[in-house]
Order: sequence, then structure tokens, then C-alpha cells
Amino acid sequence: MCGIVGYIGQKSAAGFLIEGLEKLEYRGYDSAGVALLDVEQEPLQIIKHQGKVAATAAAVAAIKPTGTSGIAHTRWATHGEPSDRNAHPHADCRGTIAVVHNGQLTNYQALKKQLTAQGHTFQSDTDTEVLAHLLEDFRKNGDDLVTAVQKTTQVIAGGTFALVAIDAATPDTLVAACMGSPLYIGLADDGLFLASDHRAFRAHTDKSVQLKDGQMAIINADHTYRVVTFDNHQSPHDIQQLKYQLEDIEKGTYATFMEKEIVEQPDVVRRVLDGRSTDDGMVRLGGIETHPEFQSFIKKQLHDVLILGCGTSLYAGETVARFFQEHGYEVQAMDAAEFATSSFQVKPTTLVVPMSQSGTTADLLVAMEKVKAAGAVSFSLVNVPGSKLTSYGTGMYLHAGPETGVASTKAFTAQVLSGALLVLALAQESRLNAPHVAAFTERAKTLSFAIEKILAQSDDYKKIGQSLKDVPRMLYIGRGYGLAVAKEGALKMMEIARIPSLGMSAASMKHGPIALVDSETVVVAICIHDPKVPELYDLTVSNVEQVLARKGRVIIVAEEGDDRVATLGPNGQHPEAVISVPKVHYGILSAITTMIPLQILALAAAEVRGMNVDQPMNLAKSVTVL
Ligand code: GLU
Repeated sequence: MCGIVGYIGQKSAAGFLIEGLEKLEYRGYDSAGVALLDVEQEPLQIIKHQGKVAATAAAVAAIKPTGTSGIAHTRWATHGEPSDRNAHPHADCRGTIAVVHNGQLTNYQALKKQLTAQGHTFQSDTDTEVLAHLLEDFRKNGDDLVTAVQKTTQVIAGGTFALVAIDAATPDTLVAACMGSPLYIGLADDGLFLASDHRAFRAHTDKSVQLKDGQMAIINADHTYRVVTFDNHQSPHDIQQLKYQLEDIEKGTYATFMEKEIVEQPDVVRRVLDGRSTDDGMVRLGGIETHPEFQSFIKKQLHDVLILGCGTSLYAGETVARFFQEHGYEVQAMDAAEFATSSFQVKPTTLVVPMSQSGTTADLLVAMEKVKAAGAVSFSLVNVPGSKLTSYGTGMYLHAGPETGVASTKAFTAQVLSGALLVLALAQESRLNAPHVAAFTERAKTLSFAIEKILAQSDDYKKIGQSLKDVPRMLYIGRGYGLAVAKEGALKMMEIARIPSLGMSAASMKHGPIALVDSETVVVAICIHDPKVPELYDLTVSNVEQVLARKGRVIIVAEEGDDRVATLGPNGQHPEAVISVPKVHYGILSAITTMIPLQILALAAAEVRGMNVDQPMNLAKSVTVL
């Protein structure tokens, strides 16, 4: 969370910085700001405002700055309310040094107390501001900016940070440091960039260096740069070629990123499957084939599986866990943060499967440190190439393409399908016969067409979503593969439409949540036939009857050809809408087909309720704080 941008070069910095902030606004949008060095404007110009980047952009445009270096930030507050004065950048007492920061400084209170006692005056409630005052002290004592940042990283050890500092006294240099939050250098002809995500500078270059934890970057106006460790040794780094195109990170003709990303799902499915099966339908995963030690682990040691994720990734993980179970594995899907803070231990025979869109989710990375310390084997499912999560063991990319909408959609689909391939790839090594795997991969290839058929009905689903405009509360119920879909459906509705929504097992509704059912409550029920557990359908249908008997409003997601669901309920009290999705013959694939209409429902409900779909209240994508 929080988006950082820095620029230094020969051109005016303001345009690059604002453009970068706009690209990073998905990371945080409660306030934004820039600090610019302009030789004619002493010492440092800081412009910052509460609210979206647009407010800061307008203020910057009004003063027409010409400075050729600067830093910028779009914030997701952790310490101190969203306000003008808590917006970054934060400056030292003299206003000559400024910093932007992503992360949390655990010892900031003690530092603030100490700095205040020494005579420093604080302007904000943030943890970040201590950085500016620490730098001020080190600089006063004669350290250059690089040394001052190095010493500061020692003082704030234990916290998480990506930070960039600018100093009016050294106008030709920006200094950055990275520990637990992402930071990239952009190498462009127009100048050098620093950013939390390379999207900020993708319009200007496809060359980027990803900083590792414990690395600092020093970028200069003469186009030179250095990467060093916190103790000032040259540090090896690779220049990465960014593969995606600019249109992949732009909305194009769509009103929102979320809608664009929903519509992309047939292509995402094709990309997930592309090159991952042999001619005879067996699964091939590069992350397994190129890792003999992992193959030997599968054959000789693998006993049980632990899937870790947060939010949507956790629900995708629960879906994949069920597929693991179907194939005879002992498995559990756990919230990564809960795992990290529990006494639960992984064994040498446990395969850990972390799942994440961004690969930078702080809760998951902390969990992975615990996994690493235990020496356990992991296989990651991750979307963003080269992200931190990829540094833990082997894995596979989701190939969903950049996901910008804060409410995750296509990444869910990619995670579920990739997870299914992983299960089959593991199982085929020892337990499964070839025809079974081939039948699945054959069916999976038709999934993109099923999704296209669903998307062709979008207008109908949007009307249902619009009918939810004034609904006070919703319940989402499902069983089997429908359970994680119910939770994910409710999450989508809560996060973007802000309708209080609970997702749960249809069975557990009667143990409490049914108390909420009345004629105003909408219950979305996923009523799908699971070929492995046929009774689930009838059981869910009887839970729907219980809702209708209490006059609840019901929306059903069922398979095409299911004529029964529309007639449920006493006379005059039938479901008010039935969403029909194509039959896909595998429970795990139905988790994808049933979820997509629920994404559209949430999108339409949010729009009719006047919500900002891509920037939902209090949220941000890539949750890089604990
Ligand atoms: N802790 C800083 C603040 O509250 C940065 C927050 C973040 O990175 O999300 O301003």
C-alpha cells in the first residue's frame, strides 16, 4: 500500500511524478503529494492534499514547477488520519530534506519522543515523519545523504519500509532504501525513476531493477545509479525487461478497471492453460519440471499440503484445497496472517502453497518467513513476475496480466485454475491415471468459452445488481465448491458496493445468520451439482426453502437446464432471479463460472449506489502493511 514515485533527470519532474502517481493510485488514495527541487524556488517545494491524486495534480499544475527532480506519494494511512498535514512527503525542521515512505515504523513513538526532546518540531501524526528528522540530524553531523539514509535504516530496524529521500543540498541525487516493501528503479532515456511498482514509469521505459530487502539505490541526474547494501557495499542486481504493454495497464474503453478485468477472464484462462499440458493431456509445469529436488520431494516426502493466502487469494485457496482433498491429500487452507501468528508448525513433509496476486502481501510474506525458518518446501502461485513471493522456492505464474482494480477478479479465476493444474501435476506423479488428467485438461480448455457465454449475459446480471441498490444486507450461501464462492461473492459486494454481506456455508446459516433474514434481506445461493457429492445440491436447495419461508429475497446461481430452482418456495415467494451458468462438469471449474456473475452483480450494485468501483473506501490493492 502507498505508492511512491521519484524522478531525476534533465526534464521537468512534475509531469512524470503526477503521471506515476496516477498509475499507482490503486495502492492508496486518501491523500497525495509531491516534493520538487527547483533551483529558483528555495529550498524545496512541497505540495500535498487530502483526497485523490487529482487534487494534488491540480495544485501542482497551477504553480507550473520546472524542477528536474522530485519525489511523490499516494497514501493509504496507517498512522494518522488522512489529511493534508499527514500526507507525504514529510520534511525536516528546515524544510530542506523530504521523504516518502511505504510501510510502518514500529519504534516511531520512541524516536519521536527522543527527537522532540532534542528540539525537533513535528508537523504530522505519521510514523514516517521521524525519517525526515533523523536524516536532518545525521546531515547536521556531517554525513552525506547516502550515509544519513544508511544510518537511518539502522535506527528504524524492525520496521518495514520503502523510502525515498530528497535533499535540497544535494539536488543531483535521490536516495532510496528498501526493507519489506517493494521498490523499483526505472532506467529511461528521459531520466531515472524510483517507484513502488514499475507501472509508474512503464510509459517511459521497459527496463527496471527490483530492489531487494536490505538494498539501497542512489540515482543521479547524470543518469548514473548505484545499488548498495545498508552497510555500503556494492550489491548485485539484475535489469529486468518488463514484458507487458502500456494498454495492459490502461482502462481503454472501459469505465472501470474492474469491468475490464472481468471481461479479460476468457483470455486469462487461455493463458493459464497455454503450454501447460502435453499432447496427451498430461499437465506440465515448468516450476516442477525444472526443479529435480522438488520432484524428488513430491515422490518421496510429500504428505500434506498447507495453502496460505489472504482475502480473495484465501478463498481461491479454499477452492483449491477442496480439489486437493478430492485427490486424496491431507490439506488445509489458512489465512496467512493467522498462520504467521499461531503455534501451527509446518513439517518437512508439508508442501506449502502460498497464493497471492501481488506477491507482496505483507501478511503472506511474514508467514513465508516462518515457513522458510522451518525449512519447509513451497510452491507459490503468484501473478506479479519477480515479486517478493517468487523468492521463496519454486512456483507458477498466474499469467492474469496486471490487475489494477482493487477488487480482485481475474486473479481469482487464474488462482483457482492454476491451483487445479498444480494438484493434477502433483497427483499424476504417483496417484492418478492419465485419462483422468487428460479429461480434466480437455474440459478446462472449454472453460474460456463457458466464460464468454456468461459475459454475453452481463447486461442481465447488471440489472439484477442494480436491483440491489437499497438492500440493507445480504447473505451468500453455498456448500462444497459453492462455499468459497459464497465468501468471495460477499467480499466483492462489501468491498465495492458497501452492502453489509456475509458469505457462509448454506448449512451454517441456520446456526445464526438466518436471524437476519426478512423481506429486505437478499440471499444469494449457489446451487450447483457437484458430480462428486450429489447430495450437496438438494441440501442447498432446502436451505433456500428456509429463506423463502421467511420471506427473504433470493437470487440463485444454478446450472443451465436447472428448471427446479425457479419454482422453489411457497406460492408467490419464489426466487426473484436465477442466474444460469454453463455446466462445466468439475466442481472446481464451477467455482469459476459461478463467481463471475457475482463479480458483475457487485460491480453493477456499486455503480448504481454511486461508489468508486476502482478505489473503494478504506481499501487499497497490494496490502503491504501488517
Ligand atoms: N505509515 C505511513 C503512513 O501512515 C505509510 C503507510 C503505508 O505505506 O501504507 O503514512
